[in-house]
Parts: sequence; structure tokens; C-alpha cells
Amino acid sequence: MPNGHEWDLFREKLLAHQPDGLSIAENEPLAAHTTLRIGGPARFLVRCGRAEAVVATIQTARDAGIHWLALGLGANVLVPDTGLAAVVLTLVDGLAGIEVDGARLRAGGGAQLGRVVRAALDAGLAGVECLGGIPSTLGGALAMNAGAYGQEILDVLSWADVVEEDGTSRRLERWEIHGGYRWSVLGKGRIVTLAELSLRAEDPEVLKTRVQQVRDRRRGVLPPEPSAGSVFRNPPGDFAGRLLELAGCKGLSCEGAEVSQRHANVIVNPGGATAAGVRSLVGMMAERVRERFGVQLELELKILDLNGNVVADPDAPLA
Ligand SMILES: Cc1cc2nc3c(=O)[nH]c(=O)nc-3n(C[C@H](O)[C@H](O)[C@H](O)COP(=O)(O)OP(=O)(O)OC[C@H]3O[C@@H](n4cnc5c(N)ncnc54)[C@H](O)[C@@H]3O)c2cc1C
Repeated sequence: MPNGHEWDLFREKLLAHQPDGLSIAENEPLAAHTTLRIGGPARFLVRCGRAEAVVATIQTARDAGIHWLALGLGANVLVPDTGLAAVVLTLVDGLAGIEVDGARLRAGGGAQLGRVVRAALDAGLAGVECLGGIPSTLGGALAMNAGAYGQEILDVLSWADVVEEDGTSRRLERWEIHGGYRWSVLGKGRIVTLAELSLRAEDPEVLKTRVQQVRDRRRGVLPPEPSAGSVFRNPPGDFAGRLLELAGCKGLSCEGAEVSQRHANVIVNPGGATAAGVRSLVGMMAERVRERFGVQLELELKILDLNGNVVADPDAPLA
């Protein structure tokens, strides 16, 4: 872990770049930046409004040997109670804009997915109308290949501008971007700053009906309390929620975190829950399903360690 001097050096060097569109917050509490409302402070939270600011931040962090990660709406992450000894980048302003050009929609990685969907609907364009209810930025959605009701964001992606782990910028064409059920290479060691979606014109009345149908289907499915959506991915041919419910997980609780009574694959924070409590619950849920059905569930939720690395094992001990 970097010492105080190294953090000071990081701040000095980053400010020396004087990139436009960059603001730095130190020891920023991350609970306010996640939908679970859980998480200690990030040593640095850097808001980037231009791709150059992202490049400067990543290069400076890399040179200093400091971990970094992108954060969107924090709708799929669990941040430790002790926070992150890392640089957290969020995309704002110029990296959150949306522009429609014929049937093509270009938006920054920080654009809220709901606004992207609204812009497409206003232009009479189909392809993302089922994704409107997903709390997400466009970058987070592309990293996770977010999807609902038969649509996935990668299905309509043309290209993505990214900043790579080594601080270089490049455009990745669709054929270079591998992904599948709730994952894509865009979420691995790079940040999406801009992307273009290729949509198709559709009768606005048909679109409106489809949006209403999706809204009706979503209503009442997920709990109203703060959550991070599904904890586990669906195993092939089954539903994690079904297995968890049959394994008696609904209502389990630990340190303020609870398995929702409404959906057994969702952990909620009714108030005062800790990340440690969520992690213990995750382990209990995985164990119950393993014991009852012999199925090893895989995490959809990204559990972060102190450096911001993803902990893939649901049974991993607390660091
Ligand atoms: C109530 C609720 C309902 C949900 N319903 C659905 C659903 O129906 N379908 C679904 O797929 N998901 C659903 N989710 C999960 C979540 O909304 C998605 O995974 C979403 O895409 C996460 O986006 P985010 O911007 O919050 O990313 P974050 O949670 O902030 O980050 C997720 C991952 O993306 C990476 N990332 C973030 N921004 C970028 C970027 N610009 N470039 C590269 N990587 C980036 C992060 O580093 C992290 O690894 C739901 C969540 C909640 C709370």
C-alpha cells in the first residue's frame, strides 16, 4: 500500500499535468457513490470531464504504482468499510454528454443509462428501450454488458473509445470487444470514455408500448431499499433467485444487511448495514445453495478489496 509521501507525490504530479476538466477529492466517502449506500472513503476520487484528464490520472497512478478503478453509479459494487487505498475515477461533464445523429447515438462513459434510453426514445430509435430501468452509467453498462428483457447493451454497440491500463487512448471496434452474460472486456483494466450505439428507427407508438410493458414487469420485482441488484449470476438453465429462495435465504441478516424478502438474490441495506455484513451474507447464501443443490454460484456483484481489485470467490475471508 502506498505511504503518505507517495500519495502526496501522486497529487503533486497529477496537478502538475494541469489537465483541463479534472477535480480531485481526498478521502471521499464512497457510501454516497454506491446504490447500496455502503463503503468507506476513497483515498482519491478524481472527477474527469475530458479524456485527457483520464489519461493523465491513469498515467500518474501507474507511474506511482497506485491502483485505480472506474466507478459509475456504483450499482454493482461493494466497497469495503475501510474504503479504498486507490484512485477512483468518475466521468462527468464532457464525458457524460449524449448526441443523436440519425440512427447513431454517441454518449460519454459517464452518461446515465436512463438518459441515453430517453434520448433514443425521443428520437424514435429502438434497441435500448428495455434497459431504461437499470441504474447505470453507459460505461458501467458496457463493462457489465447490462441487459434486461432480451436486450443487452453490447448488441447495439458500434465502437468504444477507451483509455487503456498503460494510459494510451484508442478506439475499439465492436469485433474487438468480447463479452457475454454480464461481462465484457471493456470492464477489464480500461475505461470507456465515449461509445457509439447503432440503433434502428421504430414506430414511436410501438416503442412506447414496449417501454410500458417493461416498466410493468420491473415494478414490484426488486426491493425498494438500497441494493446493488443481483448478487449472483444465474447458473446455466436456472435462476439464482429460485435456488436461493428454496435454500431458505430470504430474510437472512448480518450486521444490518439483509437478504430481501422480495427477491432472494438481492441483499438490501435498510439502514446501517456494513460491507462486512454483506460479505458474510454472500458467503452464507453461496454455502446454502452448495449444500442443498450442489451448485456453486458465481458472483455478479463486484466485491472490492482494499486496492479496488475484484474478489471473485464468494467464500473469500474478509481482508
Ligand atoms: C435496483 C437495481 C436493479 C438492477 N437491475 C439490473 C438489470 O436489470 N440488468 C443488469 O444487467 N443489471 C442490473 N443491475 C446491476 C447494475 O445496475 C449494472 O451492473 C450496471 O450496469 C452497473 O453500472 P454502474 O455505472 O453503476 O457501474 P459500477 O457499479 O459503478 O461499476 C461496475 C463495473 O463497471 C466498471 N466501470 C464503471 N464505469 C466504467 C467505465 N466508464 N469504463 C469501464 N469500466 C467501468 C467498474 O470499474 C466496475 O467494475 C441492477 C442494480 C440495481 C441496484
